[in-house]
Amino acid sequence: MDQKVRARLILKILESKFKIPRVSEVADDPFRTLVRTVISQSTADVNTRRAYVNLSRRVELTPKGLAEADINEIEKALFTAGLYRNKSRILKRLAKTIIQDFGGTLDFIYSEPLADVRRKLLSLPGVGPKTADIILLFCANRPVLPVDTHVNRVTKRLGFAPPDAGYEEVRMALQSLYSPQDYFKVHMLFISLGRSFCRARRPMHEECPVNNLCPSAHA
Ligand code: SF4
Repeated sequence: MDQKVRARLILKILESKFKIPRVSEVADDPFRTLVRTVISQSTADVNTRRAYVNLSRRVELTPKGLAEADINEIEKALFTAGLYRNKSRILKRLAKTIIQDFGGTLDFIYSEPLADVRRKLLSLPGVGPKTADIILLFCANRPVLPVDTHVNRVTKRLGFAPPDAGYEEVRMALQSLYSPQDYFKVHMLFISLGRSFCRARRPMHEECPVNNLCPSAHA
């Protein structure tokens, strides 16, 4: 079967199986989304949420507010997140860099050419390709498909990218299979599939809703 046809069929099945959140449920303004994404690294969702809410109560979540905040306050707020000391320092540096390099705003993500925006975001402390792409897609609806750990695993098991593909290769493979208007949907649905059936350990091939379209179903 043609890869694009298979990709479309998989998307249809996943759409019927899982709820897709609204963008507003998973993203805020770009700076807040950036802060939340940095906190979420190597941290369970529930602890990310708790740490983020704590931080927003103690500190004004703007580049200026975070740059001027006492590091101890930030650490206390992030205590429930993994690597909280490290993340506190990263967030402070992030806020200062946005002020120094970009005049205290991330508004450039809406208007400048995509490659320039991506390069600027990647120059920020604590911001890797996944975080940059989440900001671009979630906050500015730019045509990029972020690859997190679930999206990466599911994409490879579905045979859309080779097992040793790096971030960019997986992203490009998915972007070529789907239309930009579906990128958010694909990102969220592949995460749902990865969490519920296509888990890292002991994937539930038999119960999986896309097993008849997956080359790894009998692996
Ligand atoms: S059949 Fe198995 S490997 Fe394929 S997507 Fe489903 S759980 Fe993952």
